[in-house]
Amino acid sequence: MTQNTKIQWCDSTVNPTMGCEGCEQWSSQRKSCYAGILHTRFGGVTKGYAPTFEDVTQFPGRMAQAAAWTDLAGKQRKEKPWLDGMPRTIFVSDMSDSLSAVVPFEYLEAEVVTHVTTEKGQRHLWLWLTKRPDRMAQFSVYLKERGTNWPKNLRAGTSITSQATTSRTDKLLNVGNDETIHFLSVEPQVERIDFSRWLPRLDWLIHGGESGHGARAFEVEWASELIGQCDEHVVPYFLMQLGSVVTVTVHAPA
Ligand code: SF4
Repeated sequence: MTQNTKIQWCDSTVNPTMGCEGCEQWSSQRKSCYAGILHTRFGGVTKGYAPTFEDVTQFPGRMAQAAAWTDLAGKQRKEKPWLDGMPRTIFVSDMSDSLSAVVPFEYLEAEVVTHVTTEKGQRHLWLWLTKRPDRMAQFSVYLKERGTNWPKNLRAGTSITSQATTSRTDKLLNVGNDETIHFLSVEPQVERIDFSRWLPRLDWLIHGGESGHGARAFEVEWASELIGQCDEHVVPYFLMQLGSVVTVTVHAPA
């Protein structure tokens, strides 16, 4: 967890769990997840990490610590002026997928929902990102059955990398209720994706290419297309980075 993260779209990060059961970015074919790479180096040897990346581990108490961080509402950010005035914006789960199957809903309720909704927690905006939106939607049903509404200040997000992974968006839209803010992190985008079906129902979109060893190309046209589509549907768009391999297609005049 860090109060002052370098991640451009938020002020801070917190991880109620560490480690993950994997995804298309961390599999037998590909090892490009940043959290997985850091765990390979520090897991089991450095305090605060899971023993191994695959061994998803609970870290109770971190959400309470984050809830106690100072209120940033109305404040200016020297390094990130686009966040000026907003409540402290906290990315939940950048080093893990806390919706991994081994994490019980009881833990997520006690650790995440409880601290997001305390008097201190309500001063902040919490952005919870998962590649398991189906499980996040099941968690919101679990809460509802227990008489708990999805917290207004807990935004629900999922990550998309390719056309095949866009089905996560339908599942994400089942999280919470009519007041829930749903966002996509399209990062890293590794191929052309058609978002037109979902954009009218989305509230925010983060976009970017891939960095690091073995990075796949990001076509600049994908950004300009998506900016145009987001404008059309009045969906706020945030370009995080183009990535380390950027391509530009020059179209011949018709
Ligand atoms: S779901 Fe997230 S944390 Fe887990 S392997 Fe994929 S990118 Fe990494």
